[in-house]
Amino acid sequence: MVADKAVPRLFGTNGVRGVVNSEGMDCQFALRMGMAMGTYMKGSVMIGTDARTSNEMLKSACASGLMATGCTVLDCGIVPTPTLQYAVKKGNVAGGVVITASHNPPEFNGIKAIDPDGTEMSRANEEAIERIFHSGDFTRAEWTRIGRTIPQTTAIERYIGGIMSVVDVAAIRRANLRVAVDCSNGASSLVTPKLLERLGVRYVTLNADPNGAFPGHNSEPTPENVGDLVELVKAGEFDFGFVHDGDADRTIFVDDTGRYLYGDRSLAICAHHICKEKEGRLVVTTVGSSMAVEDAVRMAKGNVIYTAVGSPVVARVMMQKGGIFGGEENGGLIFANFQYCRDGAMAAAKILDIVAKKGKLSKLNDMIPQYHQRKKKTRCPDAKKQVVLSELAISAKGERIDTTDGLKIFFKEGWVLLRPSGTEQIFRIYSESKDPARADELVEQYKKEVEKIVKG
Ligand code: MG
Repeated sequence: MVADKAVPRLFGTNGVRGVVNSEGMDCQFALRMGMAMGTYMKGSVMIGTDARTSNEMLKSACASGLMATGCTVLDCGIVPTPTLQYAVKKGNVAGGVVITASHNPPEFNGIKAIDPDGTEMSRANEEAIERIFHSGDFTRAEWTRIGRTIPQTTAIERYIGGIMSVVDVAAIRRANLRVAVDCSNGASSLVTPKLLERLGVRYVTLNADPNGAFPGHNSEPTPENVGDLVELVKAGEFDFGFVHDGDADRTIFVDDTGRYLYGDRSLAICAHHICKEKEGRLVVTTVGSSMAVEDAVRMAKGNVIYTAVGSPVVARVMMQKGGIFGGEENGGLIFANFQYCRDGAMAAAKILDIVAKKGKLSKLNDMIPQYHQRKKKTRCPDAKKQVVLSELAISAKGERIDTTDGLKIFFKEGWVLLRPSGTEQIFRIYSESKDPARADELVEQYKKEVEKIVKG
C-alpha cells in the first residue's frame, strides 16, 4: 500500500512514531493530535504510557488536547499496551490512546490510537483523525464543558484477573513451575511479576523496573539483546525464560535448554495446542509467517487463513472469520478468548498453561518441523513498486502464487515473499525453506531479480 497523497499520512503500521523533540514528535504535535483524536472520539478516553523518559511530556500535551475538545481523560499511568486495550474494551469508553514507541530505541516515542472495542484503530478511523489533524477543524468545548483528567488505579488488577479467567490456573499451580522473565525495563515490570505470583509460578526477574534509558538492553527482544536471559536459563533450573518488548504486546521465549525461540515457534506451539482442544479450529496469521505454523495447525486438524502483514489486519480477520488464535512471526500473539490484540502477558500465561499440561518447552518445540527464514531488503523508488510487482508476477507464471500482500511464490522446497514497503522506498524480500542453503539461495536470487527490474 502506498501512502494516500490527498491526506498526508501520520499513522504507520503501529501508530505515529518519531525521535522525541524532533521529527515532529514534540509536545505541540501531541497537543494537536490530542485535539484531533478528541474531536473524533467524543467522550471518555483511556490513556496510558510505556516507560519512556518523554512519556509525561507527551501524555500531558495529548491529554490537554483531548480535554480541550470536551473529552474526559482516564489516566491509567504506566501500563503495557494490551493492559490499556483491555481497560478500553471493558471500560465502555469512546477510545484509547497509548504513548509508546514499542521496541524502538530510547530516544523514540509515539502515539497510538485504540478503537472502543480495544483493538488497534482501523485504518479508516485513523484516516478520519488525520483529516481532522490537517484541517485544524477541532471541537473547542465551551468553558463549562472542558474535560478533566481522572486517575485510574484498577487497570492492572482487572487485566491480571482477566488473564487468570482464561487459563487453567489450577494446572499451572500444580505444576510448580519456575521461569526467568526479562521485562526489558518496560511497562511489563508492573504487571508480569504480579501475574506470575498470582499463578503460583516461581520466578527470577531481569530488568524488571521501568526505566526509559533501557539500562539492561534495547527493548527489541532480538537474540543480540537477550543474551543475559539465555545465560540465566542455561545456568539455572528453569522450565523456560521469556522476554517482553518495551510495551509488552510481544513475548519471545527461551526454552528449558536455553534455546532462543523465534516468534514463529511460540506462534506454532500455541496454534497447535489451541487447535488440539477442538477439531476444525481456525488460526489467522500473515503471509510472512513460517510454514511451521501451518504444519502445526494441520497436525492438530485445524485450518489457517493468511492475511496481509500487520497485527490490526490479523485481529480484524480473526473477528470476521471466527479465528480462535492468531498472530505474527515477531512474537505478537492474539487470543480470541481474551482480546483481539497482541498480548505479551497473555502469551506467557498460555505457554505456562501448555507446559504445565504437556511437558517441556524444548520437547513441544521439537515436535514442530523446523524451517529457515531469510529477510533482505533493497532500495526501490515508490514510482517503481508496482512495475516491479507486475514483472515479478509475470516471471512467476506457472508457479503457485499468493497476492494477499505483495507477491508470495511457492516452490516445492519453500517460498519467497516480495513486498514493497508502505512507508519507505524499499522492497522487502523474504524466503523460507527446510534447507538453510536453499533459503539463502532464494533470497539472493530474488533480491537480484528486484534490483534488475528497478535498474531497467
Ligand atoms: Mg510492542
